[in-house]
Amino acid sequence: MHFLKSDWILTCDVDFTIIQDGVIVFDEKIIDIDTQKNIEKKYPNCTISYEGENSVIMAGLINAHTHLEFSGNKTTLKYGNFVNWLFSVIEHREEVIEKGDKSIIDAQLRDMINCGTTTIGAISSYGFDLQSCVESKLNVVYFTEVLGSKPEMIDTLLQDFKEKFNISKKYKSNRFIPAIAIHSPYSTHPFLIREALNFAKGENVAVSAHFMESKAENDWLNYSKGEFITFFQDLLGQKKSLQTPIEFLNSFKNLKKLSFTHCVYANKNELEMIRNLNASIINCPTSNRLLGNGSLDFNHLKDINLAIGTDGLSSNYSLNLFLEMKNSLFINKNTNLEKLAEQLILASTKGAAIALGMEHKGSLEIGKDADLIIFKLPEKTNIKDVPTMVILHTTKTDKTFIKGQNAHN
Ligand SMILES: [Zn+2]
Repeated sequence: MHFLKSDWILTCDVDFTIIQDGVIVFDEKIIDIDTQKNIEKKYPNCTISYEGENSVIMAGLINAHTHLEFSGNKTTLKYGNFVNWLFSVIEHREEVIEKGDKSIIDAQLRDMINCGTTTIGAISSYGFDLQSCVESKLNVVYFTEVLGSKPEMIDTLLQDFKEKFNISKKYKSNRFIPAIAIHSPYSTHPFLIREALNFAKGENVAVSAHFMESKAENDWLNYSKGEFITFFQDLLGQKKSLQTPIEFLNSFKNLKKLSFTHCVYANKNELEMIRNLNASIINCPTSNRLLGNGSLDFNHLKDINLAIGTDGLSSNYSLNLFLEMKNSLFINKNTNLEKLAEQLILASTKGAAIALGMEHKGSLEIGKDADLIIFKLPEKTNIKDVPTMVILHTTKTDKTFIKGQNAHN
């Protein structure tokens, strides 16, 4: 049993409680958490180990959305405009995926742990990241993805998707959780969506989908117009969108553990539907910026649960969640700084845990998994500024505990 003390403990609970001079008691799970005074009263014979001046203990970060199979990209893909990016992905897909082999993915996963991530939501298009995810010390929610819009291909695609999912299911453990992803409303045939979601209900797994990432997507789904015309007509011979955004969202009824990634262009009605579905929104601010998609306005979300993800290295330069929070702090410039810092930390911990259906994680509360990170701020600060300073001054951790074990490499 560990008794660790730090100057600050960020519990990441619903009230964003910060304990000054706090002690956390844990083995695989969190046994107690309180001020040093109270812990010494409750456990008179305990040996408390102090993490040092300006030390911080907080809930481990949860990267709710990433694509590890694209870890081979650095400067190959074209940024700035979503449709141009998509064409560059199609052109260079094989080369990027080949470059991002197992050793590259393994290195990214190790790096994520060293940078404070304890759980990821990994979207897998091909299954090439499976072994890395199974072998990693991280908690992984592994989303087997389905897509395809050609009617004549649906049976084959569905069968292939089920096979991939069933392979991932063989590795299911308390650390590796199979799940299902629908690529997007513009790329996936409604029949394929319906079948995949029925399958997901039978398996009782988390479900995620990209939604309203770009203006091109919005124009295509609503009006069958805009920048996607060249993409669909030239590549797929398709003249009209297969579904409206509302039809797409409607197919997700009665699913628990549901999330939609991006939603930058979701309108009021669509956000209302997401709220009614009790789904989470996963925001990938750096990716949205780099692909020319603008930014999600947090003020429109009201009580929708918010999570954060890095997306893949196909649309980011790093999978470090501290950098992602930092970027978001500067992107959302019309929001109160201190409130935003709290919101971002919550979205990277508790909010992301809810989005992935991992509610036994994401905050430092008695009975939850002991997934926690330890690092130091450079100088003294006061309680009100701790969240902002944590985001500004942290990129790596000193220790990263996953289920009570330090997994730091
Ligand atoms: Zn994505």
